[in-house]
Amino acid sequence: MYTTVEHAAPALASYLDDKHHILLITHVNPDGDAIGSLTGLGLALEALGHAVTLLTPNSPPPFVANIPAVNRIQSYSHATYLPPTVDMVVLVDTGDVKRIARIWEDAHEYLLARPIAVIDHHVTNSGEGNVNYVDASRSSTCELIYELLRAWDFPITPDIATALLFGITTDTQSFRTSNTTPSALRTAADLLDVGADRERIVHDVYNNVAVSTARLIGHALLALRDDGPIVWTYVTLAMQAACGAHDDAAAEVTDYLSSLGGFLVSVLFKERGGGIIRVSLRSLPSVDVSAVAQQFGGGGHRQAAGCTLVTSLAEAEERVLAAVRAALGLQPGVPSRAVV
Ligand code: AMP
Ligand code: MN
Ligand code: MN
Repeated sequence: MYTTVEHAAPALASYLDDKHHILLITHVNPDGDAIGSLTGLGLALEALGHAVTLLTPNSPPPFVANIPAVNRIQSYSHATYLPPTVDMVVLVDTGDVKRIARIWEDAHEYLLARPIAVIDHHVTNSGEGNVNYVDASRSSTCELIYELLRAWDFPITPDIATALLFGITTDTQSFRTSNTTPSALRTAADLLDVGADRERIVHDVYNNVAVSTARLIGHALLALRDDGPIVWTYVTLAMQAACGAHDDAAAEVTDYLSSLGGFLVSVLFKERGGGIIRVSLRSLPSVDVSAVAQQFGGGGHRQAAGCTLVTSLAEAEERVLAAVRAALGLQPGVPSRAVV
C-alpha cells in the first residue's frame, strides 16, 4: 500500500500506461468526493488517451448534477453491460470492495480478472487492490487525485479542477472538519488558480435544497432527542413518503444535526426498507466515530462515519447509542452532559 504520491504516482502510471480501457467505480450512495474523483480522474485518463467507463452502484444525488462529465456516469443495474475490453479497474473513494455493493456482488469475478487500483483516504481502508494509494491524512480522494495528476505533470483543465474542488469542499464540510489541512487548502487554492468554478460549487452545495427536503428536515427535527453529549433523530420511510423527499434527502438532516451546539456526537437513523437501518454518525474532533461504525461492520472517517444494521429502528438506536456512549467513556444509559 502506497501512502505517498512520490511512490504511488510511478506505480499507478506503470499499471495504467499500457491499458486501453479503464473502468472507474466509486461507492454506493456516492457523495461529492466520490463523483468528483470519478469524473476528475476519468476526464484526465481520457485526455491521456485511454477509453474510460464511469460506473456507480446507484444513481448520484441531484446536488452533484453539475459536476463536469456527470452525465457520462452509468448507474449500475443488473442489466448493465460490463465491456469485455476493460483491462484495468480503478476504485475511487472506496474503503473496501463491499462498498461498491451490487457491482461487487454481481461482478466480482469480472473485476478480479483485471488489475485493480484503489485510490482512497478512508482510515479503514485495508488495501484490497493490486496497487493501492491510500492516505487517510488527506481531506478527500479528490485531493489525492490532484496530487497524482500533478506528479504526472498532467495539465489540469478547468472542468477537472471543478470536479476535484467539489469533492474537497464537500468532504471537509466546506473546510470545517479536522482534515482541513494546509495541504487541503493549498490544493483548493491551486484548483482555483487553474479555473475551478467556485461559484457553481457554492450554489450547488448551499442554494440547492429542495422544498421536500426542507419538509423532511422539519419532521426529523420534531423527533429529535438528546442525552448529554449525544443528539440523534430518525427518518422513516413514512416521513420520506409524506414529504415526497428524495432518497438522499436525509443527508441534509445529518448536516443539520451536526450543526447543533453543545454536542460531541450526532447520529441519524434512516429506515431503508427491508428491515435495513442506515446510520450516519458525526462528531467533534475529539471523538472518533469511525471506530463506532466499525463495530457494526461500517467505517468512514474520524468525524464522519456510517454503518448499516438489519434490525428495527428501536433496536438500532439502542445498540448504536450504547456504542457511542461507550466510545465517550460514559456509563451505559446514564450519560452526563459533557462540557464541549
Ligand atoms: P454518511 O453518513 O453516509 O455520509 O457516511 C459518512 C462517511 O462514512 C463517508 O465517508 C462514507 O464513505 C463512510 N461510510 C458510510 N457507511 C460506511 C460503511 N458501511 N462502510 C464504510 N464506510 C462507510
Ligand atoms: Mn465518499
Ligand atoms: Mn471521500
